[in-house]
Parts: sequence; C-alpha cells; structure tokens
Amino acid sequence: MDIFLHLLRSKGFKLTPQRRAVVAALQTCAPFPTAQDIYRHVKETAPDVSLDTVYRNLTLLCRLGVVSQVNLPGGSAFEIVDGHHHHHLICLSCGQAECIDYCPVIPHDLAQAKERGFTVVSHSLEFYGYCRTCRSAG
Ligand SMILES: [Zn+2]
Ligand SMILES: [Zn+2]
Ligand SMILES: [Zn+2]
Repeated sequence: MDIFLHLLRSKGFKLTPQRRAVVAALQTCAPFPTAQDIYRHVKETAPDVSLDTVYRNLTLLCRLGVVSQVNLPGGSAFEIVDGHHHHHLICLSCGQAECIDYCPVIPHDLAQAKERGFTVVSHSLEFYGYCRTCRSAG
C-alpha cells in the first residue's frame, strides 16, 4: 500500500477511501482480476461505489504505472506491477496468464509516434499460445 500512497501523493493525487479499496481489491483478487472482480470486492467494503468509479481509478493507476492492463481472451484484466514493466504469455485454451520478464519495445524509439507529436506513456503486448498443461492435454 505504501508505494501507492507515495506515488499518488508525488503526482498530486489523494489516496481516497475508494482508491484504497480498489488497491486492496487488486491485492486480494490477484492474479489478474477483471474490473468486475474488483468492483464486486470493493462493494463489500464500500457499497455505494459505482463500476464507473472503479474504472476511473483503474485508469488512473494504469496511467501512474503501478497497475497494468492485460488483455486476456475473456476480456481485460489488471495486475499490480510495482514499476516493473513486463509482458505476458496467455494460453488460448485455459486463459491463464504468466508474466515474462521481456519487453521488445523501446518507447522513445517509436519514430512514428514522435513524427505525430504523440507522447507514449505505456503500451501492452501479449503473447498468445498454449501453456505446458494444455499442450500435454491436447
Ligand atoms: Zn493452458
Ligand atoms: Zn505480469
Ligand atoms: Zn513492454
């Protein structure tokens, strides 16, 4: 929780009770909860929270680089990244995701973004295939 507190404060954001609840849900529902999973969990402690608020807070945390969005076959999921940027292997059969410490993208080398005057703040990249368990079952 401390890293969030520091980060939000350093960027001029407050750690509101709702934000705190979203972060707690991310930690409890790990790995890879969807926005709906987080919403269900947040509602237990903050019944008046809306799905919209959960989305807004997730977007903010993604923008700050502490949470990243992972595109699973069943929809978007989220994970806490703690500043360690990485990518995922996603199984098309069971839908499980594994983190891999690899990134082929160097954002400041994206010439086309630069030409367009576009500032890149994040990117996502997933590798789709079949995990060891599904391969041996198939
Ligand atoms: Zn699998
Ligand atoms: Zn990961
Ligand atoms: Zn990357």
